[in-house]
Amino acid sequence: MNAASRRMAVAAAAAVMAGCRTVPITERSQLMLSSEDSENAAGLAAYNEYKAKYKPAPNAAQQELLNRVGSAIKAVAGDTGFEWEFNVLQSDTINAFCLPGGKVAVYTGIMPKFANEAELACVVAHEIGHAIARHGGERVSWGYLQSIGSLGLSLWGSSTSQVLYGLGSEYGVILPWSRSNESEADLIGLKLMAKAGYNPNAALSFWKKFGTGNSSFIDELTSTHPCDATRISDISENLAEAMELYAACPSKRGFGVRLVNGVPSDEVAE
Ligand SMILES: [Zn+2]
Repeated sequence: MNAASRRMAVAAAAAVMAGCRTVPITERSQLMLSSEDSENAAGLAAYNEYKAKYKPAPNAAQQELLNRVGSAIKAVAGDTGFEWEFNVLQSDTINAFCLPGGKVAVYTGIMPKFANEAELACVVAHEIGHAIARHGGERVSWGYLQSIGSLGLSLWGSSTSQVLYGLGSEYGVILPWSRSNESEADLIGLKLMAKAGYNPNAALSFWKKFGTGNSSFIDELTSTHPCDATRISDISENLAEAMELYAACPSKRGFGVRLVNGVPSDEVAE
């Protein structure tokens, strides 16, 4: 090892030691060299672009439903420092996301896929799980380390987060997550929905609809959230723990209201 590569190795090791974070709820230790402020600023800028591009949902009942679900989940999400926003946006795309800083969007296109309010809560809580776990920032951090390894320290401080969040590009902001990111977001989401009083069995009923063989259902959500048998078995495994949290919740919402063609009804879902 020559002097230059030794210096890089030392810099990389120092960076790793300086930049570790514990993921809330799962308590996994993660590499974190990215600044939360810059992630949240990038999230806000991208969110504003989405709101400029897509109109609000024409059906006010959908927005009211998301407000109710969002309030319930953010109340149990812990001290995130997020400035939460929840918007149903008019697009046929079957997707939902939460940008860094707690900026949540649900497209009208995914609404008909929810049988009930709890299934919507499952997706919102899962997306919030990615944001709480700062999966975007973690990916940026690994990018920094690669920069140190391949190019030296010259790239240190460059605005990698802006590159990775893809400001200005339509889908760049919605990252295709890795399998381990998915598992973690599922676990956080399951616990959040249960603590918020939603029956966590809705997570199983929802994701099973995305199971293999149901090709008509493959869309943006499944391209950014790879769904496979692992997801279903992971959720099944964690269900008992989530049910305990649900049992302990003083204000249970069950499955909430039933949705008919994406529109909330007055009927309580079973
Ligand atoms: Zn996901």
